[in-house]
Parts: sequence; C-alpha cells; structure tokens
Amino acid sequence: MPPAHPFDDDKLKEECGIFGIIGVADAANFVALGLHALQHRGQEAGGIVAHDPEQGFNSVRRFGYVRDNFTSAKVMEALPGPIAIGHVRYSTAGSKGQTAMRDVQPFFGEFSMGGAAIAHNGNITNAEALRRELIERGSIFQSSSDSECIIHLMARSLQRDIPERMEDALRRVEGAFSVVAMTANQLIGVRDPLGVRPLVLGRLGEAWVLASETCALDIIGAEFQREIEPGEMVVIDESGVESRHPFRARRPRFCIFEHVYFSRPDSILGGRSVYETREAIGRELAKEAPVEADIVCPVPDSGTPAAIGYSLESGIPYAMGIIRNQYMGRTFIEPTEQIRNMGVRLKLNVNRALIRGKRVILVDDSVVRGTTSRKIKEMILDAGAKEVHFRIASPPTAWPCFYGVDTPQREKLLAATMTEEEMRDHLAVDSLKFISLDGLYRAVGEAQGRDNACPQYCDACFSGDYPVEPADMIEKGFRLKTAAE
Ligand code: SF4
Repeated sequence: MPPAHPFDDDKLKEECGIFGIIGVADAANFVALGLHALQHRGQEAGGIVAHDPEQGFNSVRRFGYVRDNFTSAKVMEALPGPIAIGHVRYSTAGSKGQTAMRDVQPFFGEFSMGGAAIAHNGNITNAEALRRELIERGSIFQSSSDSECIIHLMARSLQRDIPERMEDALRRVEGAFSVVAMTANQLIGVRDPLGVRPLVLGRLGEAWVLASETCALDIIGAEFQREIEPGEMVVIDESGVESRHPFRARRPRFCIFEHVYFSRPDSILGGRSVYETREAIGRELAKEAPVEADIVCPVPDSGTPAAIGYSLESGIPYAMGIIRNQYMGRTFIEPTEQIRNMGVRLKLNVNRALIRGKRVILVDDSVVRGTTSRKIKEMILDAGAKEVHFRIASPPTAWPCFYGVDTPQREKLLAATMTEEEMRDHLAVDSLKFISLDGLYRAVGEAQGRDNACPQYCDACFSGDYPVEPADMIEKGFRLKTAAE
C-alpha cells in the first residue's frame, strides 16, 4: 500500500491501528481485512492473535504490509477461532524507526485465570517510570514497547478477572491509549479518560467489532454503532456489550489532528465524515486567508479535500496541478543514492499545461520540517507558475506529540524556530498562511472556536498545551511552554 502522503519523512506519522472481532467463524480473516483498511495508521508491522476453544491462543506477527502477510491460506489457517484482535504499527515507542519483532503487537500474557492478548494505540507518557518500578519489583520485560507495561501491571493486580485487572492496570497509566484486548471468550475495548485516540464499536450480524476507525467496519460490511466514549471500557461476550467507566471523568480532549490528517477521509469522526470536515477546513482557510489567484491545487492526496473547500469558498477554480504517481512505493527509491536524490519528482509530477503562467494556490495539510514544501514550490515554479501561494490546513506545528504520533524533535519543526513571515521567506513563496487554531476548531464543529479555559480537543502540537504532562520526556529534559511563550 502506498503511503497516505508521498513525503512520509516530512509528515507526522500516526502511530497504530487496532481491530478486534468476536462472534464469527474464522475471526482472524475479518481482522486481516480490518487491518488492511487501517494500514494508513502504520505500515511497519502487524500482528493478529486469535483464540479457538480447541487450539487455544495462536498469534502471527510480521513485518510489512497486511496484504503481504495475512492473505495466504497457510497463515490464516494458523489463526482459527471465533475471536481475534490485531494491530498495525508504526513505532512511536520502543525500537523507534527500527522495529524489532519483539515490539510487534498484540502482546500476550498468561494469568492465573487464563490468557489475554492486548493491542494498544497511543503512547504511555509515564511508561519509563512504570517500567523501572516494575523491573525493580521483579517483572521481566520481553520488549521495549511502552504497551507491555499494561500486561505487567495486569499481572501484579489482585483482581479476580481479566477486565478488572485491566482496569487496575490502566488506572496507573498516563497518556493516550485506545486498547483492544481479548481473553478466550471476551473482547475488550478501552479509551483513555481524555479519549485522545479513536475507537469505534460496530456490529456484523451477531458479531461485535472494535476498530480504530469506521473505514475498517465498512470493509467487512459491519454497521457502525457508536464511538467508545472517552474513559469507557466495553466488555463483550456472548451475552452482549457491558459498558464500564473505570476512570475519574474528565473533559475529553480528542486529537484534533485526526480530523486534519491521520484518519481516512471516508471515516466518520464525531458524527461527521472526515472528508466533510477537511472540506470545511479548506473553506475556513479561504475565509481567513484569501488571495487573488488563478487556480487552487492540492498537494496530493491529503491536501485534496481542503483544496476543494478552499476552491468552493473562494470561487477560484480547483485544478489537479500536481499528479501523484500511484505506484511509487518506498522500496523502489531505496536502492541507490542517485535515484533517492530525484526525490519528489519520482512521487509527484507537475501538470505543466495547467500551471504555466498561472498564479497558483497550493493547499497542504501541514508543514513539519518544510523540506518538501520547498521542493514542491520549486517544481511549480519550474513548470512556469507566475506566483505560488501556500495555504496550510492546520496551524503551525510547533510542538512534538507525545500521545502516539511520531514527531521530529522540537528544534526540527520549522514552526518551532521561525515566525510565519520567516517561514514564508525560508520557503521562498509569494505568500504562506496557516489556518488559525480558532478557525480549525470552527471547522471541526466548534462554532465559538477554542475554549481557551478548557479546550475541547488536544491541540498540543500547535499550542504547546499538553493535556497530560509528558512525564518521561520532562525527565529527559523536554521543556514545557512557559507563560511568556
Ligand atoms: S499533540 Fe497533536 S497529534 Fe498529538 S494527540 Fe495532540 S493534537 Fe493529536
């Protein structure tokens, strides 16, 4: 599967996708399909655990794409049973950028009352402190993943059943977590008290499904029931869905960047299609940052809905000024330095006939390091554009994410070291404008904008306002925003 954005190394990278199902024959086959639909959330590795009453728990964990690993009959026959969970991974903790097989989820633990497998999307912000404590008390870790802490905390709990042990464990954990877990006969889903990462519940006949996004329900024909609420745990077995609320209630802070970039445009978030939200972001951007121009072009593919919104609002024609090579995978560009240096031209091509002599508005979802924005601008100018105006569908990304998204160190973020004017000069474009934080909030449905006293979303990567203190990072020297900044 090609990456969702052609410039993977200059984008924030989500993280993980999780999926689980109970109540169908050969559940693992459904999990494989669900993970395939969630592949944009992690392309490094994937795993599936299934349980069969006769054969017990089985697992397969592999590097690479779901379609390359979980489509052969031999692999899938090794995962029998009516209940299964799975995980696709881009490493955000553990062996970052160099995934080791021992870090590939789901993780499995054997407890006195039976086995349990667990798949986690997010990032535990006090994982290192917990790991130290657990190791001192005798735990033997198998991986470098933060998620394994949950298994060890469950092992230390004195509760009598697995869901209660999970409750105990997750009360000790800080940060962002959406979790899908299973026992021999229960499927369990949990979201952290702030609901930073998504998790939805679906129904397929008599079967129940949990997934990171609704697009993973669609692929198996399951019906979307509802989002798992922030702070909610659902325990699903043959008698149905039991809802629990094991955490102290807090105001939710869902990741606003899911609306901008991470989630698939055909998923539903907060009762609205992600595509519609992105189009609304483009409209808002056009209101906030108008400019006279001849055409509006998206940076494909992730800038497309916002570019359509910008065009609709401004009345400036939309044009596919940049064409993406759909079949340009990463592997092809890796072999030689010479080919690698061709860079963006291998992945994108400018539609010269549309661009020549035009004043072009380029709409992209975000600017991270800014390296690719510069290259795209050069390509547009080389094709004969008269002017280039960048419009960005998110506010300046000036802070790292510690909640399950891979972000460069703060000093590598263009917006951390430059003002908007300096970024415009650095990119050498005629104009550069980002949507405001309030504008983004309006576009996602908050008519009054951001409630600064009690923000409705997590927007830490834009605002520096971290809803959960990143304890491990502070210990390593990360400096929180000061009152003066
Ligand atoms: S810091 Fe940004 S990317 Fe991370 S959870 Fe918050 S809004 Fe999402």
